[in-house]
Amino acid sequence: MAIADEFRQCRTCGYDRGFHTSLHRIAAGHPHFRVVLICPECGTRYDARWVMEL
Ligand SMILES: [Zn+2]
Repeated sequence: MAIADEFRQCRTCGYDRGFHTSLHRIAAGHPHFRVVLICPECGTRYDARWVMEL
């Protein structure tokens, strides 16, 4: 996704107070998780392409 100065507004419904986050394990037994942003208003998911190691 293209990000201007700040990614805060949902492109589906226009909600602009920030997102919920969810972590998805990349693969079973894998130590890395991908961070997914979820619009609390309409539920649209955005893959932030952040990867965390837990
Ligand atoms: Zn939304």
